[in-house]
Amino acid sequence: MQDQGTIPEPIKTALEKLTLLPTYGERGAGRFLYNLLKLPEDVRSEVVKALERAANTIKRCAECGIYTDREICILCSNPKRSKRFICVVEESQDAFAIEKLERYTGVYHVLGGRIAPLEGISPKDLSIDNLLERIEKHKVKEVIIATNPNTEGEATANYLAKLIRSRFPAVKVSRISYGLQFGSLIEVADELSLEKSIENRRSL
Ligand SMILES: [Zn+2]
Repeated sequence: MQDQGTIPEPIKTALEKLTLLPTYGERGAGRFLYNLLKLPEDVRSEVVKALERAANTIKRCAECGIYTDREICILCSNPKRSKRFICVVEESQDAFAIEKLERYTGVYHVLGGRIAPLEGISPKDLSIDNLLERIEKHKVKEVIIATNPNTEGEATANYLAKLIRSRFPAVKVSRISYGLQFGSLIEVADELSLEKSIENRRSL
């Protein structure tokens, strides 16, 4: 059996804190920390400084919920971006992936997750009221739902489509198509597939 006393206290504490990251778990925490410790000391401290800076300066955009280092993100504050088109994503990194394509000219809305009853995540845990407010406030023409193409992402898309249609019958609701493989993740999708899935979006 491993003698717990042999693990230095700072490592124990760091591991404990890292397991606070959802889905990370003990193994993920260990992999991260021990790889970090393996780096030369100067590189290690650069990594830590960058993490600390991100942790201390990044917040959610007050409008769309994307991670930003300002009150209102550069997308929402860009007058060239149309607020009448909202692309709904689960997390900021999904929006960043779509932005890389340099095609979409509307704004985003970050739900902060997806409906996952087995994990106890229900619609009230997501930023849905804000979305409805924005649809009304900006007289939105189209809501493009870009939740991930998996069971929960689909269920979330259908839930949102129904809700939006009932409140705002004139708003077009569309869903990115299956240029993306079922079960894949938007944040790691290849650019061509992602671009096709947005271009070929279908009405819900
Ligand atoms: Zn924003």
